[in-house]
Amino acid sequence: MKILFVSSEVVPFAKTGGLADVAGALPKALKNMGHDVRVVMPKYKAIDGKVFGLKTILDEIKVHFQLITNYTQIQGTTFPGTDIPVYFVKFDPYFNRQELYAEGGSDYPDNAQRFSLFCMSALWMLRGLDWRPDIIHCNDWQTALIPSYLKHHPDLKMDEFYNRIKVLYTIHNLAFQGQFDESMLKTIGLGWEVYSMDGMEFYRKINLMKAGIVFSDEITTVSETYAKEIQTFEYGCGLDGVLRHRSEHVTGIINGIDYNEWSPQVDSLIPAKYSPEQMAGKAECKKALQKKQNLPAREDVPLIGMISRMTDQKGFDLIVANAAELFKLDIQFVLLGAGDQQYQTIFEKIAKEYPQKVAVNIKKDNQMAHEIEAGADLYLMPSKYEPCGLNQLYSLKYGTVPIVRKTGGLADSITDATPESIGDGTGTGFVFEQYTPDALFKTINRALKVYEDKKVWKKIQLNGMSKDFSWDSSAKKYVALYRKMLGA
Ligand code: ADP
Repeated sequence: MKILFVSSEVVPFAKTGGLADVAGALPKALKNMGHDVRVVMPKYKAIDGKVFGLKTILDEIKVHFQLITNYTQIQGTTFPGTDIPVYFVKFDPYFNRQELYAEGGSDYPDNAQRFSLFCMSALWMLRGLDWRPDIIHCNDWQTALIPSYLKHHPDLKMDEFYNRIKVLYTIHNLAFQGQFDESMLKTIGLGWEVYSMDGMEFYRKINLMKAGIVFSDEITTVSETYAKEIQTFEYGCGLDGVLRHRSEHVTGIINGIDYNEWSPQVDSLIPAKYSPEQMAGKAECKKALQKKQNLPAREDVPLIGMISRMTDQKGFDLIVANAAELFKLDIQFVLLGAGDQQYQTIFEKIAKEYPQKVAVNIKKDNQMAHEIEAGADLYLMPSKYEPCGLNQLYSLKYGTVPIVRKTGGLADSITDATPESIGDGTGTGFVFEQYTPDALFKTINRALKVYEDKKVWKKIQLNGMSKDFSWDSSAKKYVALYRKMLGA
């Protein structure tokens, strides 16, 4: 099969969240299964053309929307260590900026134009390459105009080259929808016929997430539970009705993770390697983490780690509500994150208040993310909602026992540790249901109590380390879905 994978962020080129990890790993798994997969993303400022060996592939792609004509360029390279082509849409006025989507807390005001240009260029690129994919796999609102263009753009919908291509649209986070003023319609090259209740209109705005849901052949999201949740009022972010309307075409496929990057047996970013058979290295990682974070290097104290975008989604308000009680306990807490100013300020204050217990790192730092996964005893992820979540999966592999709320991908990947589940090998973490400070506090205390029993704790760690969330099985599910879409 020929598959074009379209994403606004891809590891190792550019990343703001889990989408980039998926876009960096799933294509490789598809390639390993023998498919011709290629990836396209924007060429941002932070992507160093020299480091990645970018070359010009197509010099001028004409993108003509009603009012303006722009010429974009396609550059290309391969994923490091593979022969998988990665194409970059280069248009400096739009993409040669400091960030991907927003700066200083506000979205770039021309995001609609930026990502419509990206989508259209990606489509015209195919003809330039004379490479016609069977499937275009789109991801989140930044790519959601592709199915709209294929079905409704006057130059594309009648074109033989394009009109047999099927589109899969994957939702990585329903909360980010790409909503714009209706006056933008003409600047993204579409007419009023798409701007209706069964098109991309949403409370008198253009909603690109809705366009993706409505105009794609199939829709997936990144866990089975989230696929069900988003069809309810509580989790639907206003689009639950639209999703229910298409429910026969909505499925959940859980993300895998890349064990070449995230496994303590091979991780070159951690101070000591370890494995289920040889756990001694984990204690060394803990000691090194404590030292680097300026915390007392005590082996016996439970160390809780957290690596996260600092937003309401991730449950920071529950931690704040518990702070006074929580940090009375004999624990250590290491946080790595960046995001909302209010949370950054609160957590920096907490760190000052409890210098012996709490270390807060407000930044993005991949190396430190690995050090925390390896050095912590427990991993905290009390999300309000979580489409899939990756860090709980990394944590399992590193023997770092997750404390999670039962939602989305967390519900699908972590099984609560009870005497029974610990014994039969399924218990891998500590799970709570109600989104309340009290439920979180009780569950942390429950985990700390179990932590005191070294033998039981080790069994939970080993249960988690033996779980397999590699891409192999999820990639097979995507391929089965692609085949179904092609009527094969
Ligand atoms: P989301 O996509 O909602 O942010 P995920 O759990 O799916 O959450 O993915 C988050 C990814 O980003 C993980 O790979 C995590 O390690 C990484 N990450 C988040 N914050 C930071 C940070 N401050 N520094 C380094 N990596 C981070």
